[in-house]
Amino acid sequence: MSEKLNQLKEILGEVTDLRNAGAVLGWDQQTYMPQGGSEARGHQLGTLGKLAQIKFTSDEVGQLLEDLRAEFAGVDPGTDDDAAMLRVVSRDFEKARRVPPEFVVEVAMVSTRAFEAWMEARQKSDFSIFRPHLEKVVELTQRYISFFPPADHPYDTLLDDYEPGMKTADVQAIFDNMRPKQVKLLKQIAAAKQVKDGFLYGKYNEKKMDAFSVEIATKFGYDWTRGRQDRAPHPFCTTFSVNDVRITTRFEKENPTAMLFSTMHETGHALYELGCKQEFDRTPLMGGTSLAIHESQSRMWENLVGRSFAFWEHFYPQFKKLFPAQLDGVSLRTFYKAINKVEPSFIRVNADEATYNMHIMLRLELEIGMVDGSMQVKDLPEIWNDRMNAYLGVTPPNDAQGVLQDMHWAGGSIGYFSTYALGNIVSAQLWEKINKDLPNLDDEIRKGKFDSLLEWLRSKVHVHGRKYDPQDLVKKVTGSKIDSAAYVRYLTKKYSEIYGL
Ligand code: MG
Repeated sequence: MSEKLNQLKEILGEVTDLRNAGAVLGWDQQTYMPQGGSEARGHQLGTLGKLAQIKFTSDEVGQLLEDLRAEFAGVDPGTDDDAAMLRVVSRDFEKARRVPPEFVVEVAMVSTRAFEAWMEARQKSDFSIFRPHLEKVVELTQRYISFFPPADHPYDTLLDDYEPGMKTADVQAIFDNMRPKQVKLLKQIAAAKQVKDGFLYGKYNEKKMDAFSVEIATKFGYDWTRGRQDRAPHPFCTTFSVNDVRITTRFEKENPTAMLFSTMHETGHALYELGCKQEFDRTPLMGGTSLAIHESQSRMWENLVGRSFAFWEHFYPQFKKLFPAQLDGVSLRTFYKAINKVEPSFIRVNADEATYNMHIMLRLELEIGMVDGSMQVKDLPEIWNDRMNAYLGVTPPNDAQGVLQDMHWAGGSIGYFSTYALGNIVSAQLWEKINKDLPNLDDEIRKGKFDSLLEWLRSKVHVHGRKYDPQDLVKKVTGSKIDSAAYVRYLTKKYSEIYGL
């Protein structure tokens, strides 16, 4: 290995250390830190973030990258890990250098205030409190875009931060193709005999639900010597190294099984990070390649596995033994239908598999409209309600259950929503390929076994970390780029059977 490559790796190792140390502080902030620690924690996170940024965007790194690109000219980043790292780091570096440090500070200030205003606005269900802050966030987002060379669409610049290489037009084409099919399916479901699920919302014991959730995470293959689970207000997964990937959970009295499904979800994220090649640890190739690919992993374990009939054929007797009163007289079949009930609703995070993507498409359209100036912030509540009605046939009774429900825009993040739907789509594409490669998978799941599934995911997806961009990875693994056909097939088959369509 060349001396310069060694030097670059040493610096990047330190940048990674600083960022991961920040992640530890962030994890603590959401799990154990007493309220009083919050101001100091803000400073600590800010200082670590700044140090990492200064180190990463230094002229020294720029020079090393330039020299090494010349040295590696002609080496294929698709096969050579060092060439792949240079490709990924050069892109990260080029992006990071375009954004002035004062701007980063301004975004932090504006989004802190916007977040506070959003919490108040949502609590009072009064969009006018949030409106001036969101206008400021939109203005900053447009300014951020202006730091980059013009793209086909201004939204491309934002999307690229979450889905490297994806274009707005690609996502629109994928969604345009899917929307009418999904709307048609939803209409058929609405006209069919509805599913009963009241027994899922009874009184369930938290400790038992937690113990069952932990057992499932273990069965999925979560390695407790390289991870742990704690309580947090919102479930998440966080990574400090390839050998320390943690998840969190919470119990909601009014929705007790959410603990189980969100643990499956976060375990899916964790398995992805834990499956990354050990050699990528402490380098920028460590971790998931994009939010959509990450979400494809969490959604697969939560939905394609965790809400499948085969899964519950194995686990329902045990689950029912834990909750005999709640599930008295509830057959496996009834239970399976209940956990897959389709019901158009106002809130995205509670949406079922069949309606979820509609929530995302709506948000993408609004984000694009805000960014390209074709929609004014003041008109968002009305546009929101109109489209909810068009796509899901429901109109939110107030803005708290409508345009004010998500925290993303308040936190300064515009450009991120579509990755949730893309994750669903990719999960189904991978699933079709997995089932071709592993024809006995359904039988294995029926026996409560997941090793060959995990092994497949590790060797085809997880091991690569950030080496391949999302579209290239999906193409490499499935033979085609991101495409909604498999997802539409999956939904149609599953719900036709459940609803007798
Ligand atoms: Mg997720």
